[in-house]
Amino acid sequence: MTLVRFLLVGVANTLFGLSIIYFAMYFLQLEIVQANAFGYSVGILLGFALNKTWTFGSSDHVVSSFLRYLLVLAVAYVANLATVLYTNSHFNLNPYIAQALGIIPYTIIGFLGSRYFAFRTQRGAEATKIQASEVSAYKKKCLIARMIDVSIVVPCYNEEAVLLETTRQLADVLQQLSIEGKITPDSRVYYVDDGSRDRTWELIESLAEANKFVHGIKLSRNRGHQNALLAGLLTAEGEVIISVDADLQDDLSAIRKMIEFYATGYDIVYGVRDSRKTDTFFKSFTAKAYYRLLSAMGVEIIYNHADYRLMSRQVIEALKEFDEVNLFLRGIIPQLGFSYALVYYDRAERYAGESNYPLIKMLSLAWQGITSFSNLPLRLITGLGLLVSLMSFLVTVWAIAVRLFTQDTIPGWASTVLPIYFLGGIQLLCLGIMGEYIAKIYTETKRRPRYIIEKMI
Ligand code: UDP
Ligand code: MG
Repeated sequence: MTLVRFLLVGVANTLFGLSIIYFAMYFLQLEIVQANAFGYSVGILLGFALNKTWTFGSSDHVVSSFLRYLLVLAVAYVANLATVLYTNSHFNLNPYIAQALGIIPYTIIGFLGSRYFAFRTQRGAEATKIQASEVSAYKKKCLIARMIDVSIVVPCYNEEAVLLETTRQLADVLQQLSIEGKITPDSRVYYVDDGSRDRTWELIESLAEANKFVHGIKLSRNRGHQNALLAGLLTAEGEVIISVDADLQDDLSAIRKMIEFYATGYDIVYGVRDSRKTDTFFKSFTAKAYYRLLSAMGVEIIYNHADYRLMSRQVIEALKEFDEVNLFLRGIIPQLGFSYALVYYDRAERYAGESNYPLIKMLSLAWQGITSFSNLPLRLITGLGLLVSLMSFLVTVWAIAVRLFTQDTIPGWASTVLPIYFLGGIQLLCLGIMGEYIAKIYTETKRRPRYIIEKMI
């Protein structure tokens, strides 16, 4: 199949290249050499673009795979020339037949070179492999043939605009799965009202009245997304718990896949955003940079996973043992261990209402993620301190040398004042970061409850 695509691209490329060459020669009145160069360049670019994504589905870096592609083309071209010249001179073939023969090594080298050298990662091939193995694994490994008792936990803060639609969609998902016999008919949803200031709680109450599967947990005040989520996770009943945001940004159809993974024996299933198309450039850029930074600092975290995930009862019980106040669930869950799987989904726009994670809250969560899981900042300080001391030692040696062996020592203002500022700055920085950790110790030692439930329905 790839070979067919490759050939199609080749033919299209040749036709396109030829038409460009003729166009350049007759309409633009270019010299034949220029027209050829023009046609070839466009042809190569087109061939590259088409082959990379369409033929080989490669996700390699553009520049490096383009250079490799050029190399492959060069080798193939040399083979083509050699064949043409050789057949021409040795067998006295007519030039057209010699050309036709030359295409054979050109195609073989071009194809193999592209496949194994220029475009090495093959998304298509990998994806089909995974899919096929997933299906057969599902059939073979389905450990849980009975219906699974599911709870879905949804933290809500000022979500009156979306809750009706969320309830409708969740009802659809639950109903469908229960008709298929995958989950119990009394699987349920817990809305955790995180001290909303609008009519979210009243709405939850009326939804609970109208729908048997809706339950509500009302926190006594706003405690933030992570705490609200935790309140739901630790309070909800059920054999598995799935957490999802209220705003319908996370594709609810992934719930089905999560449950299927659970049935094949995974304890945690992470929902991973496949695309950030709908996020603003700023948000997707900062989010990416943040995940990179966290992993560089040694915090274990699933790339592009927010808090959309399935956890088994066993995992929840393990989570109960973690009673830290500075909550960053995305970092804690991977630390629990257990077998896990990933489910990919597209992230949509917020259905309605406004994001409750403005920049300042995002930064604060980001900082929480770093300081709750990584001691690297502290270690960096030690390193910095060592470096500065070493440098000042060297400067001292240098100053003594200047004093002893030369005449031009001027009692320096800069050499006294600059280090003071420099060291002062560094000390302040270090104090700041240490203070950050001490503040953490402070909040942890108080052992205050992380949330207070006011009411439950
Ligand atoms: N949320 C919450 N308490 C808060 C802020 C947010 O329970 O103090 C909930 C909110 O209702 C939503 C989820 O957390 O269900 C994610 O918030 P949001 O959609 O505002 O964040 P974003 O998707 O923009 O990161
Ligand atoms: Mg959201």
